[in-house]
Amino acid sequence: MKITHTDIYKFSIPMDPFTIATGTSYFAQNIFLRIHTDSGIYGVGEGCAVSFITGETQETCYVMAKDFAQLWKDKDPLEIEARLSELNSFTAFNSTIKSAFDMALYDISAKNANLPLYAFLGGTKRTLESDITVGIDAPEVMAEKATEFRKSGAGIIKVKLGKKASDDIERIKQIRQAVGEEMVLRVDANQGWTYDDALKVLRAISEYNIEFCEQPMRRFNDHLMPDMHKHSPIPIMADESVFDHHDAERLIRTKGCRYVNIKFAKSGGFHEALKVNEVCRANQIACMMGGMLESRVALTAFAHFASALPNIRFYDMDTCLIGHKIDPVTGGVKYDKYNLTIPDGIGIGADADDDFLQTCEKITV
Ligand code: MG
Repeated sequence: MKITHTDIYKFSIPMDPFTIATGTSYFAQNIFLRIHTDSGIYGVGEGCAVSFITGETQETCYVMAKDFAQLWKDKDPLEIEARLSELNSFTAFNSTIKSAFDMALYDISAKNANLPLYAFLGGTKRTLESDITVGIDAPEVMAEKATEFRKSGAGIIKVKLGKKASDDIERIKQIRQAVGEEMVLRVDANQGWTYDDALKVLRAISEYNIEFCEQPMRRFNDHLMPDMHKHSPIPIMADESVFDHHDAERLIRTKGCRYVNIKFAKSGGFHEALKVNEVCRANQIACMMGGMLESRVALTAFAHFASALPNIRFYDMDTCLIGHKIDPVTGGVKYDKYNLTIPDGIGIGADADDDFLQTCEKITV
C-alpha cells in the first residue's frame, strides 16, 4: 500500500470564548487530516494545539503538516514504526501534529485489517464514563456549575484549581457541599501551585474526599514530586510532567506519582502512548485518558485506545462537551449522559463532516 496524498484542514471549531494568558480564543485550534492511499482506504487524524502546553499553534501545526505529508508521499502507511521515525528524525517535539499523522496511520491499519481500532489494538469494547470539567471561577459560581452537571447526570466532576491557595480550598469546600457526598471529585492544578501551596491545599481539601490531584506544580519541579507524592494525603497524577515513556519511567522510578494522564497531544499519538501505558502498567500505575479541545473524531480514537487497555482506568473525555458550539463529526462515539459508547465500524469509525470541511482552509500535499 502507498500513500498518494494528504488533505490537511484547519479544523477550527467555534467555541464559547475562552481566555488564556495570551488572549481570548473563539475557536479550538484543531487540525484535521485525511491520508489517502492507492488502495482506496484513507485514514483520519486530528490534533488540537494548546500552545502553553506543547508550544504548538494551529498555524505551526499546519506548516509542519505540509512537510510531514511530503515526507510520507509514496511510502507504505502500514509500516507505522518506520513512518513515525521519519517524523521524529525530521523534527523534535511538535507532538500534537505528530499525533494527527500517527492517528491516521492507525486508522488505515485497522481498516486494512477490517477491524475496529480497539480490536486491532488487541482489546475489547467497554463503556467509558467520562468526568465533566468545572473551570476556574468564583467558588459559588463553580458550585452552581457542579450542581448543574450533577442534575444533568454526571457522576464524576473534575475541578480546575491552581490559583490562590485559600481560594482553592474554598472552591472545593463549596463544591462538595453543593453536590453531596456521592459525587466523585477529582482536581487538576495545571502546574499552578508552589510546593508549599500544593501541600497546604491538598491537606486542607483531603477531608472532602478527593479521588486524585493532577499536576500540582510546574514540570520543572519534577525533582520535588517524590516528596509531594509522599506527603500528600491525596494521590498525585502526573499530567504535564509526562509527555513520553521516558518521562514516565523517570518519574515512576523516583516514586513521583501514583497515576499518569495520557494525552495523544503530548505523546504524539497511539504509538508512544502505548509505550507510556506499558511502562505504567508494569509498575502498577493506572492511567487516565485525557485530551485538549478535540472534536469527536479524536475523542473516538481516544476511546478505542482507552477501551483496549485495562490499565486506563480514568476517563477525562469531555473535550467536545465543554464549549464547542458545533459537532462537525459523522459517526464516532456516542454520549449517553457522560457514558461513551464506541461505534461498531472498522478503524476509528468517525470522520469529519464534509459540509463543515468545505468551510475550512485546506491544502492537499
Ligand atoms: Mg491535567
